[in-house]
Amino acid sequence: MWRYLILNNLWFAILFLVHFFGSPRSRLFILWSIGLAAAALFFRSGADPFAWLNYLVFSWLVFWSAGQFRRWALGPSAALDEEWQMLSKKLEAEKSLLEQKTREAENLNQTANEISHLYDKVTVGPSLRSVLERARGEKRHFDGEGWVAQPAWLGDQLFAALVVRGGAAKDRPLVSILTERFASELQRIRLYRHVETLATTDGLTAVYVRRHLIERLEAEMERSKRFGLKLSFLMVDVDDFKHFNDNFGHLVGDVVLRQVAETIKKNIREVDLVGRYGGEEFGVLLIETDDAGALWVAQRIRRSIEERIFRAYDESLRVTVSIGCAAASPALSGVSSLVEAADAALYRAKHGGRNRVEVAKLSVSP
Ligand code: GH3
Ligand code: MG
Ligand code: MG
Repeated sequence: MWRYLILNNLWFAILFLVHFFGSPRSRLFILWSIGLAAAALFFRSGADPFAWLNYLVFSWLVFWSAGQFRRWALGPSAALDEEWQMLSKKLEAEKSLLEQKTREAENLNQTANEISHLYDKVTVGPSLRSVLERARGEKRHFDGEGWVAQPAWLGDQLFAALVVRGGAAKDRPLVSILTERFASELQRIRLYRHVETLATTDGLTAVYVRRHLIERLEAEMERSKRFGLKLSFLMVDVDDFKHFNDNFGHLVGDVVLRQVAETIKKNIREVDLVGRYGGEEFGVLLIETDDAGALWVAQRIRRSIEERIFRAYDESLRVTVSIGCAAASPALSGVSSLVEAADAALYRAKHGGRNRVEVAKLSVSP
């Protein structure tokens, strides 16, 4: 009994002292051990629930009264001091973390600067050809007077070479990183272009497919509306091509179609677009061109085809085309109405005797 009393009072004394002098953290520890001891007592076989409750209430009372006494003895500023200490410790930790992050950022910045410095030195000079010649023979980096270079290989094909003027041997690791970057970017761009070309180009005539032509027409129509620009569309159809095929065969017809597309392309500007609209029908989009300009281009295309001698499988052949022109206007402001107007003009050209150009009448539009 005495032993129990002494032990209990000793425990309460510890609680009191720790709460009075200890830090908030040690108090938390005490609270936690009160809970643990209470749980242990409760689960011990034969534990008296009354003794357990007694222990719990008393422990808590001592703990709580120590706090009250502490506040009374030291005043509220002590509690604030403690809070402050806790916060400063946290702040210290945050500060060192921030310092570490700043150091990392500075390192990164320095690397970026070095790389951009190298970018500045990248030049394509007249000696590039000779450097590339040399690159073919080198598997890894090589250098000359005042420059370092690194070839990039794709299998056994020289894919790219990065030449850094003013670079020195110490720059090699960075040049190597840069070359890899450039090479992978180049490869990505090439692949993308290849896939894009496959998706938008007609296999036989090498002009755009109809879907792409219409997409571009839609985009250009929007642009022309926004900036008040002119825009015209031509529908070009080969005359009597069915007969042509019947006489010379489909293979010859294919070769001629390819050459017709080529002739159309030769007679328009780089910015204009030509696409295969149907079997032997081509659509031509003339950027920033009004109806007079479109008529002029259409006549030029028609004449060039009429005058050209098409050579296919030892045959020398002639074909003609009929063309319908339509210029975008408030009355012809949609893609379908513009295309329909050009088609209607083409129809009139066919009925007017073929090998002709007709311009859309505004009344055609909806
Ligand atoms: P029109 O002057 O009225 O245009 O007469 P057409 O015979 O050209 O017109 P139609 O629409 O009756 O026939 C078009 C012909 O174009 C039918 C087809 O044999 C030919 N054609 C369509 N696509 C191809 C192709 O890819 N290759 C070849 N060789 N011929 C094609
Ligand atoms: Mg035809
Ligand atoms: Mg046709």
